[in-house]
Amino acid sequence: MFKRWNLKGGLDLEGHKDLSRQYSIINAAIPDQLIYPLVDRSGNAMTVLVKTGDRVLKGQVIAGSKGVQGTLLHAASSGLVKENEWRMIAHPSGLKSWCLIIATDGLDEPGPVYEPVDYTQLSAADICEKVHQAGIVGLGGASFPTAVKITPNNVRAVDTLIINGAECEPYITCDDRLMQQYPSEILLGIQVLLRALAIESCVIGIEEDMPEAIEAIQQAIECSGFKQIQVKVVPAVYPVGGERQLIYLLTGRETPSQGLPVDVGVVCQNVGTVMAVYQAIVKGQVLIERVVTVTGLGIKKPQNRWVRIGTPIKDLVSQCGGYNGPIERLIMGGLMMGFSLPDDGVGITKATNCILVATSKEVTKSSEAEIQPCIRCGECASACPVNLLPQQIYWHSQGGAHQKCQSFGLFDCIECGCCDVVCPSHIPLVQYFRASKSKLFLKRREDEAATLAKQRFENRDTRKVQEKVEREQRIRLKKLALVKLQKGRPSAPAKMQDKS
Ligand code: SF4
Ligand code: SF4
Repeated sequence: MFKRWNLKGGLDLEGHKDLSRQYSIINAAIPDQLIYPLVDRSGNAMTVLVKTGDRVLKGQVIAGSKGVQGTLLHAASSGLVKENEWRMIAHPSGLKSWCLIIATDGLDEPGPVYEPVDYTQLSAADICEKVHQAGIVGLGGASFPTAVKITPNNVRAVDTLIINGAECEPYITCDDRLMQQYPSEILLGIQVLLRALAIESCVIGIEEDMPEAIEAIQQAIECSGFKQIQVKVVPAVYPVGGERQLIYLLTGRETPSQGLPVDVGVVCQNVGTVMAVYQAIVKGQVLIERVVTVTGLGIKKPQNRWVRIGTPIKDLVSQCGGYNGPIERLIMGGLMMGFSLPDDGVGITKATNCILVATSKEVTKSSEAEIQPCIRCGECASACPVNLLPQQIYWHSQGGAHQKCQSFGLFDCIECGCCDVVCPSHIPLVQYFRASKSKLFLKRREDEAATLAKQRFENRDTRKVQEKVEREQRIRLKKLALVKLQKGRPSAPAKMQDKS
């Protein structure tokens, strides 16, 4: 039923997955401190729902953001709320933010327990509400609120659910391990999502270099009888796990520029997110932990662990045996799409699928290479899986013409880094693209603020004119009433006047 289409561009990269893929997922210890940045994926401030000195319980809602993409944050363990701190967070911008800190008490006392329910008795709206209440966002890295993705009003024309099991970035193995160890749970999570979407068709895309995961899922399908779920093996080419790339590869449908998968009748979820949906609906658990791959030559014991959201990276590193000699870069995410961390004091977020502790053997080559001028070789365009012209975007970006970058499809760039890797001039193209995107976001925000201020000014003017008109109307009415009163008053008696 599902024909496989060919991926445009992309690279055949060395996987480095054997460092961690053979180890079963184990639980990470509860850290002394949990750190939660108080900003959501859109950069909006989150409202804190607890105060300094409060004792919070595991699973208690501690903060939330409003708006269409609003989401909830839950305490990953019990403990005391400390004073908010202004500190570095795990974000490509390298900026600081207010963070909510919980000093854990080691008791891990649970808060409100949500009763597991029979998902077959739930309506689509019930499932969406429970997914929202559990704080579930996309665990593949984008952190888009899952409830929004499956809300009935947003998915009217959807006919296919695609599960992204194509973990294409080098080093990362958390989804591979999840599929190997929890295939039945993932299938139940898929059933819940199919019910929410009111569709029957689902395909799981798994990379060809994950034979154990492919077998585990196929066996679970055989045993469960969920025959409407199909496994499709996709080539181990980077970035086959990009949402748009996987959708195209499995359905031949091209998500439009600036559009969403739903525009081509597809909802796409990462296997980690599906597992979180299973835990929320079938087990009644909110999202307080996720699987993280800790890997790289710079860590003594690479492995996959269930890690509580908010765990400081230094705690995780020490649980994995500590640093293995001098490290070159600490990366959150994979080698290609991840970003460097300022230090190991930041906390694990819902988007953290990997901590890559990289040595000079793994990352210095390109960063130390001398950057040369662009020679217009076109290698970057050939490697680009989105059909962009990276050299053109770079040209306008380095010249500060960020609007022009937009007209060359800047916002379609998925920051996969393929162009960086092939560029013979060693130009850090993605860095330029990220900078241009930030500048344009900032400009958009400033424009919105300016429009709002102008609107408020105009509203104030209109209000003043209106108040003036109303005031004059009141005075006129008062005068009229006075005249009426005077007319209606009996005139002084004529005799009296005569007497005088
Ligand atoms: S980083 Fe952007 S421009 Fe470069 S190859 Fe990837 S999608 Fe294309
Ligand atoms: S690969 Fe590098 S040198 Fe070649 S066109 Fe692209 S930016 Fe220029």
